[in-house]
Amino acid sequence: MNMVLLGPPGAGKGTQAKVLAKELNIPHISTGDMLRDTVSKGTPLGKKAKEYMVKGELVPDGLVIEIVKETLKGAGMERGFILDGFPRTLEQAKMLHETFSKLSKKLDLVLYFKTSLDTSVTRLSGRRVCKNCGGNFHIKNIPPKEEGKCDHCGGGLYHRKDDEEATVKRRWSVYAKKTEPLISYYKDEGNLREVSGDLDVDELNKILIALFHKENLV
Ligand code: ADP
Ligand code: ZN
Repeated sequence: MNMVLLGPPGAGKGTQAKVLAKELNIPHISTGDMLRDTVSKGTPLGKKAKEYMVKGELVPDGLVIEIVKETLKGAGMERGFILDGFPRTLEQAKMLHETFSKLSKKLDLVLYFKTSLDTSVTRLSGRRVCKNCGGNFHIKNIPPKEEGKCDHCGGGLYHRKDDEEATVKRRWSVYAKKTEPLISYYKDEGNLREVSGDLDVDELNKILIALFHKENLV
């Protein structure tokens, strides 16, 4: 099953994507994670991406599109995948459409995580991410067993700079302008399903699994 997760910052797309990837045994493709990985390597591409990311702006389409194209062509995509954080602009959605046609794939489902600003700010201000494996925690909602340490790999946890309140506000306004138009774009295509990003991880997961069954996708 090929799906896209769409929604504002802090909608819980990454957390849900990780759970679904395990349950369905398909890869989780997060452009945010891939970009952060590039940034941490300090390559010229990473340095360029970082300038945009710390400010809460989108990285230019050309740069992200190349990364995604290469990934989708690669091995391990045969049984499907979960695209998290891509597409984020109409330009990216069009490119995805073209790439799918070329690879004879189709987009089965776009899950729109409708989420309130309140939920987003609470989640992002408390979010802690593993430096090593990208695991997501929350100081109150999903605390790690040992403070500051990842449950999965023991790596150190950090607070993303773009999760600070001022940057979160900027990310929301970028989302409203550039990404929200994708909701009606995919509604018109007929494969958009809206769910609540305000629900907790397990609750939403149950709803999604039920939805996949109903749509005969699993
Ligand atoms: P979020 O928590 O908002 O889902 P991500 O981890 O997906 O954040 O992305 C973090 C940052 O990486 C974004 O604010 C943006 O700068 C950049 N980014 C990620 N995906 C894309 C994309 N598809 N197009 C442009 N920029 C992107
Ligand atoms: Zn870890």
